[in-house]
Amino acid sequence: MSIKENLQQIKSIIPEHVTLVAVSKTKPNEAILEAYQAGQRVFGENKVQELTEKYESLPKDIEWHMIGHLQSNKVKYIAPFVHLIHGIDSLKLLKEVHKRAEQNNRIINCLLQMHIAEEDSKFGFDENEIKELLESEDFKNLQNVKIVGLMGMATYTDDENQISKEFKSLKNLFDQLKTLNTFNFQLSTLSMGMSGDYKLAIKEGSNMVRVGSAIFGERNYL
Ligand SMILES: *Cc1c(COP(=O)(O)O)cnc(C)c1O
Repeated sequence: MSIKENLQQIKSIIPEHVTLVAVSKTKPNEAILEAYQAGQRVFGENKVQELTEKYESLPKDIEWHMIGHLQSNKVKYIAPFVHLIHGIDSLKLLKEVHKRAEQNNRIINCLLQMHIAEEDSKFGFDENEIKELLESEDFKNLQNVKIVGLMGMATYTDDENQISKEFKSLKNLFDQLKTLNTFNFQLSTLSMGMSGDYKLAIKEGSNMVRVGSAIFGERNYL
């Protein structure tokens, strides 16, 4: 199937209130333009340099999401244009995003990445760390960032019960934290679900899915 057909198929499955982030990492501009011409405007990338190059060469009405692990020293390159940063995993990173957002006269929307998978290797906060973050004076002074949601990745497994369990726990935390509203912390977005598990994620309450290979085909890494 073509990129356009893949997109139409996915769009026909996901409910209106769910935002589809088309994950275009490693894919050429032509592939992105094919999706763009089919109406897609929200794209996700996980490498700063690739994201910046694509931003510069593609239509300016694309909303670019940074979905991967972000290093503090690279925030400055995406701060002028990035629409949403999914992978905030430390206060240090958040402070840098605030600083660069301020320099650009912007408020940058961010998601806190939560550690929900069984593997140790994944980045992210746990529940207690989030509560500490929210109570810290440092956080209260970050006027140029806004935490608008949570993001999580389930364990890479065929065990659907395991995946559902992890998505459920993230949804519970999301519902709990949603009741806390401050000027820079107002949760509305729950980013969970990828090509292999977005249907399960939506069933468990996701309202933003990050789908790559099911739209663009398998990726070839060098
Ligand atoms: C690559 C990636 C995706 C998309 O993965 P697919 O399995 O191709 O849909 C989603 N989220 C993150 C954080 C990624 O790095």
